[in-house]
Amino acid sequence: MDIKIYNTLSKNKETFKPLKPGVVGMYHCGPTVYDHAHIGNLRAYVFADTLRRMFEYNSYQVNQVINITDVGHLTSDADAGEDKMTKALIRENMPLTLNAMREVGTKYFDAFVENLKELHIELPQAFPRASDTITEDIELIKQLEKNGFVYQLSDGVYFDTGKFPHYGKLGGQDLIADEADVHARIAQNTDKKNHRDFAVWKLSAKQNVGEESVLIGWDSPWGKGFPGWHIECSAMSRMILGQPFDIHTGGIDHISVHHNNEIAQSEAAYGTSLANYWMHNAFITIKKAKMAKSEGNFLTLDTLELEHISPLAYRYWLLTGHYRSTVNFTGTAVQGAQKALIRLLSIVSGYPDGGTVVSTYKERFWAFINDDLDIPQAVALVWELIKDAKVSPADKRATILDFDRVLGLNIESVPHVELPVADTKDIPLEITVLAEAREDARKTKEWAKADALRTEIQERGFDVIDGESGFSIITR
Ligand code: AMP
Ligand code: ZN
Repeated sequence: MDIKIYNTLSKNKETFKPLKPGVVGMYHCGPTVYDHAHIGNLRAYVFADTLRRMFEYNSYQVNQVINITDVGHLTSDADAGEDKMTKALIRENMPLTLNAMREVGTKYFDAFVENLKELHIELPQAFPRASDTITEDIELIKQLEKNGFVYQLSDGVYFDTGKFPHYGKLGGQDLIADEADVHARIAQNTDKKNHRDFAVWKLSAKQNVGEESVLIGWDSPWGKGFPGWHIECSAMSRMILGQPFDIHTGGIDHISVHHNNEIAQSEAAYGTSLANYWMHNAFITIKKAKMAKSEGNFLTLDTLELEHISPLAYRYWLLTGHYRSTVNFTGTAVQGAQKALIRLLSIVSGYPDGGTVVSTYKERFWAFINDDLDIPQAVALVWELIKDAKVSPADKRATILDFDRVLGLNIESVPHVELPVADTKDIPLEITVLAEAREDARKTKEWAKADALRTEIQERGFDVIDGESGFSIITR
């Protein structure tokens, strides 16, 4: 079956054609590890994970890369403002050294990987770190220098966008309110030849630490400094996947500047395109504003867990919105998703093993996911299947577990799924799952099953009390 994906480059859904039959190389712009990822950032990786799973469902071998930006990302994506990693060092009272920068980066990199695991995201084959690939950045800049695309100013080496006729071919200028205004407002080097020119190498500026004045960075032919954020992605993707590779992804905020800059550098240096398909996820908003660190309106998986929302419930909620649609986060919406997930888990855990995948449903599921990753329709199909009285419970289970290879809700492990609790007095989600299953058994008068489930709940230190309007769970 053909796979169709929306390519930001052509603004069309295209039939995917891999560079190498049966293999797909994907690069996802990774986090800048100066703080914890927020749940908006994590949408980018749940999207990347479902994309990977869709390809695997289609029997592709997937080579997947998520880079780790641990140097060189300034607070403005357009190369101005403070360095995010330096900000982290100052915030955490750490010395301004490359070793300390690496250390703080490792701390948030580890936290990021934990988040991915909690969301049941399959880890990529490679997590290259920008601080490990400085040599590759320098090579790329030298190549650009050789081809006449860069010039040096007092604070760094800049890419000359005026020399690259296709600059901006990914579009996205409409995504920033007024680009000229954005560029005017941030402190830019006014000697730049064109306002869109961007730094590929930034020279280190002296930082005052108490009495001391320090200069942190790496030696290069242009002076001590650090790579530009854009050049890092061009170098890391090429190093692992080659150039061109198949698919490059990121959030839509990366289209206008970061990805247009990656394309310009890579193509100007090596004369071939960087990636054949560019895919972008839309934002998570909160009160209709983009969730962002700078807006102070962000939530992390930890904050959700304090509200007793499990990471898998957040994943389920994300799956119910198409990756190209903006979704507005509300507590009510995600609590609704958690309820639906609990119901789904309890229903499927009650179905017996030994069934076979129902081909008519599989065909429809497959068509949805291959149509630009229409996961919301695929989730709706799961509920349609559950309600279908013509399909046996065992076949339903087999089919849903097959679908879960793409949905990634870890359905098979229920009720032994380890879901987090904020403290020991709280009711773990798995207990709620068991209680829901018991309630279902009672409704269908399967008394022996209901009793067995209650014993299981009691053995885990909890109990259920049946009331007029449903059950409540208590600790024993
Ligand atoms: P950053 O660490 O800022 O480079 O962001 C990591 C990823 O998260 C990038 O792909 C961003 O485009 C994406 N991202 C940032 N904020 C949001 C948001 N509110 N909703 C969805 N994706 C986002
Ligand atoms: Zn990138």
